[in-house]
Amino acid sequence: MSDDADIIIIGSGMGGATMAAALAPTGRRILILERGVHLRPSAHDRDDRAIFVEGRYRPDEHWLDGAGEPFSPGNYYNVGGNSKFYGAVLIRYRAEDFAPIAHIGGTTPGWPISYDDLEPEYCRAEELYAVRGQLGDDPTEPHHSKPYLHGPVPDEPAIADLRTRLSSVGLHPGTLPLGVDLDRWLSRAKTPWDAFPDTNGGKMDAESVGLKTALAHDNVKLRTNARVVRLKTGKKNCIAGVELASGEVLSARIVVLAAGAVQSAALLLASTNEDQPKGLANRSDQVGRNFMNHNCSAVLAMHPLRKNSSVYQKTLMVNDFYLTGGPNGEPLGNIQLLGKISGTILASASSLPRPVANWIAARSIDVYAMSEDLPNPESRVTLQNGQIKLDWQRSNWEAHKALVKVVKQSLRRAGFPVVVSRPFDRRTPSHQCGTARMGHDPDKSVVDTFCRSHDHPNLFIADASVLPTSAAVNPALTVAALSLRAADHIRKTDLAP
Ligand SMILES: Cc1cc2nc3c(=O)[nH]c(=O)nc-3n(C[C@H](O)[C@H](O)[C@H](O)COP(=O)(O)OP(=O)(O)OC[C@H]3O[C@@H](n4cnc5c(N)ncnc54)[C@H](O)[C@@H]3O)c2cc1C
Repeated sequence: MSDDADIIIIGSGMGGATMAAALAPTGRRILILERGVHLRPSAHDRDDRAIFVEGRYRPDEHWLDGAGEPFSPGNYYNVGGNSKFYGAVLIRYRAEDFAPIAHIGGTTPGWPISYDDLEPEYCRAEELYAVRGQLGDDPTEPHHSKPYLHGPVPDEPAIADLRTRLSSVGLHPGTLPLGVDLDRWLSRAKTPWDAFPDTNGGKMDAESVGLKTALAHDNVKLRTNARVVRLKTGKKNCIAGVELASGEVLSARIVVLAAGAVQSAALLLASTNEDQPKGLANRSDQVGRNFMNHNCSAVLAMHPLRKNSSVYQKTLMVNDFYLTGGPNGEPLGNIQLLGKISGTILASASSLPRPVANWIAARSIDVYAMSEDLPNPESRVTLQNGQIKLDWQRSNWEAHKALVKVVKQSLRRAGFPVVVSRPFDRRTPSHQCGTARMGHDPDKSVVDTFCRSHDHPNLFIADASVLPTSAAVNPALTVAALSLRAADHIRKTDLAP
């Protein structure tokens, strides 16, 4: 029986779509299996009430939390995955993030590869996703061997003013690297993009860039509504079958799993057999473990007499506390702007009456404070009677509290007398990662440094699950860079003529 494709990629999000784009020029038959469908333009895609209050785009799915209570996760299943909703911040991990770091909550293990190992792929990922940025204004910026090809998304007037104010109190505001075509995004409606679905290609996301690049090649096919429920092993412990919810079983010489950190782990754990009762790729018992998701808070800063007329707002970051700031010089985290919140969003996330929420939202500068969550084997994804159980053991919370405190102090000093904060909902796994970590030792990790499973020679995992640490920056560019690195390796070792 011949294979259905040379390469099957499960999931069309940041990892899967980037892998498809990188392997497409090989001419091999690539089949992408995506559980969801395309997001199409609709009356709701720029409607904050439909998105944030009615939850129109949230999947009809429940996971269990650590206490066994069901909850509805903000995890999106559609062509392009979570990147369709992302804030499009495409930022590199800092060079220091690849080595062990002593945090208030413990010491991170470091990566099995260095920043320099991944630097060329960071450049390629920035080029592919047309990142808009500016070097030289961020004190933690790692070495870039190539400049950004596109200049930064401009600050709106209130944000330019914020930049000056933050500098005046001794901070070093930097420019957020973004994958946004501003004119195109705003041509559909004047809204922020953070957490809004991209239906007009205004964001450089997995669909508008990765898949578009891949599908320009005739040898690449995308199947939507194709949910994979199980992987099957064959000779030499290779993945021999990819089973869909319909019962159909497909096969390929190479299988790339890129269903996202929670779903990839769940799929491997569900794929038990007689020889592998703990699931596939799991000789180390690490699948599902070390789940991480950043510690995040929203910080709203206001001056009652100053309005913030920004539409999108999200162009600035501060990394003065990224590598230091704790009682013994420990890192605290990254600060960046949120997409501009509206009265509707604020009222739905609080108990504020609508007129009060409107008044605040018209004046507030909305900040996102993000701290590193450290890997912990007990923070994990498991299956309970087939249902996903996500027992997130949040870590390093003291560092986050210290970050929020220093952000609030800084904003007050910068001329915002009213500053309030609130932690983000635990049930939104936006920056999920870590459930199939990369490492040299097959007894302690799931994939090698090229994302190949230690256990199954033809299985690669190319999504956020392989990240050994969460750092305190947004993960998508690192997911894309690792995917490009794995694709190169596949080309050289598995597809060599
Ligand atoms: C609101 C929001 C804002 C964010 N903002 C940012 C940001 O500004 N910058 C940043 O770096 N990151 C951001 N993120 C996170 C970013 O989107 C993710 O880190 C990134 O998409 C992870 O890529 P991935 O390939 O691991 O998973 P995903 O992109 O989620 O892709 C997984 C894909 O697999 C599919 N799938 C799942 N299970 C199956 C199955 N069984 N069979 C077939 N297909 C399956 C899914 O439908 C999905 O398409 C944000 C996320 C959210 C939700």
